[in-house]
Amino acid sequence: MFNLRSIHVDIDSETAWVQTGATLGEVYYRIAEKSKTHGFPAGVCPTVGVGGHFSGGGYGNLMRKYGLSVDHIVDAQIVDVHGRVLDRNFMGEDLFWAITGGGGASFGVVLSYKINLVRVPETVTVFRVERTLFQNATDIVYHYLQVADKLEEDLFIRLILEVVETNQTKDNKKTMRAAFVAIRLYRNELGEICAFLDQFSHWNTRGCFAFSYSTSTNPPEKKIRLLEEADSEEGFGVDLEENDRVRDPLLTFNPYGGKMAEISSTSSPFPHRAGNLAKIQYAANWDASGAEAEKHYIDLMRKLHEYMTPFVSNSPRDAYFNYKDLDLGINNHNGKASYEEGKVHGVMYFKANFKRLVEIKTKVDPHNFFRNEQSIPTLPNNWGNKIVMFIINYWGLLAAYVIGALIIHKQLCPPFAGKLAKANKQRREKVDGLWYFLAITDVILAKGGPTEVRRGPTVTWVGSATAVAACGGGVVAFPVNGVAREEKRKKKEK
Ligand SMILES: Cc1cc2nc3c(=O)[nH]c(=O)nc-3n(C[C@H](O)[C@H](O)[C@H](O)COP(=O)(O)OP(=O)(O)OC[C@H]3O[C@@H](n4cnc5c(N)ncnc54)[C@H](O)[C@@H]3O)c2cc1C
Repeated sequence: MFNLRSIHVDIDSETAWVQTGATLGEVYYRIAEKSKTHGFPAGVCPTVGVGGHFSGGGYGNLMRKYGLSVDHIVDAQIVDVHGRVLDRNFMGEDLFWAITGGGGASFGVVLSYKINLVRVPETVTVFRVERTLFQNATDIVYHYLQVADKLEEDLFIRLILEVVETNQTKDNKKTMRAAFVAIRLYRNELGEICAFLDQFSHWNTRGCFAFSYSTSTNPPEKKIRLLEEADSEEGFGVDLEENDRVRDPLLTFNPYGGKMAEISSTSSPFPHRAGNLAKIQYAANWDASGAEAEKHYIDLMRKLHEYMTPFVSNSPRDAYFNYKDLDLGINNHNGKASYEEGKVHGVMYFKANFKRLVEIKTKVDPHNFFRNEQSIPTLPNNWGNKIVMFIINYWGLLAAYVIGALIIHKQLCPPFAGKLAKANKQRREKVDGLWYFLAITDVILAKGGPTEVRRGPTVTWVGSATAVAACGGGVVAFPVNGVAREEKRKKKEK
């Protein structure tokens, strides 16, 4: 996708078409070139690619104000399993929904996304406050967890917990440091922001200082978990002092609330909305190369992850699809087992939306051409599922057939049929039959049969036009025929 990285920003319509090979940094840059008061809610790191990021969710500093990247995608172009290039209109709402949060890789190759830009102030306030265990970090973290998701949505405060060297003990031992890294979508003087923060935190912000962002490096290993409201009361803050697991790995809390709590959990495949306090990112950075170092750091991460179990969501323990974690399960795509294997991690990433993703996958890529270790599986190929898929594929046909037949029969046909072939019951039935036939033909043309041969809305119009033409023909033909017959009958009588 590297060569597909063009970005067309249209400030008049406050939209942009972004090719998926572009990076987030390029997107931000191109928007900023055209406007200082527009932005886009997406990830913190500029080196991240649009293709994976947008298709899997996309959260960042504007998350509490505007939600995720996927909440602002309005169109897309995808190459589907048949090699066709489809936009939203042609791919249909199901596939469009799937590739705005369910990951692109299970469904095709996304070429570009059309996004709605959001409005941002020209100047914002950013700050960073750091406190170690010796500076009351435990208490502050505890209070942060009470308020982080309830603050005004213009304020986003990330919490990073990490172990650092300290000169606050005699032997310069390590200590835990809590860094609060924040952005407020206002211009504030430092004094103002400190006073504001003191209102709700125990930070004692006398030492707070201005902060600017720099480009982050790639954490080689990440895990992400959500902390649910109910879990935040007990334990975690208190345990910081005891916790020897946060050594080299670090924990980053990204608070929810605000817009995130307002958007429905089914509006996109990303299900983690209201009721979540924060997304927790587990990360470890290391310079040493080799399998031993890798094992060491990944083991540390696993221990930390396990340690957090009582404090985070369970059944399922949620996970963010864009921080793929193969520890959650791998799908070997071995026939019948594939669905069950995929379900294990699928429900952690997508909760109840997993079911719809599987149905869409089965519909658009029934032979599972697009697959990887954690792609969405297809439904097992048994009769029950075949019937389900038939209903899903042909729901329009079935519904239209039943409803159309009823309406036509009850409402439309009698007056027409009455006029066309008054006392002739047989002929009326023929008219009814014609209407049924046309209605069904129209729907078949519109739906185009199974997904593989669906041809999109143009066919709906062609189908409708054909049906209207045929109906018109029928309407004309029957009376003409009727009159001709009547004349014939009269002649005979004479
Ligand atoms: C340094 C760093 C910082 C990050 N920060 C954030 C953050 O702040 N917020 C956040 O939400 N996430 C963040 N992430 C996670 C990031 O969103 C995911 O790693 C994302 O999958 C990256 O997408 P990519 O296209 O760069 O990666 P890739 O590895 O190229 O792709 C990831 C997956 O998406 C698929 N894919 C990529 N392009 C397409 C396409 N065009 N069509 C179909 N499928 C495609 C790939 O097949 C693969 O399965 C960060 C990751 C890193 C490494």
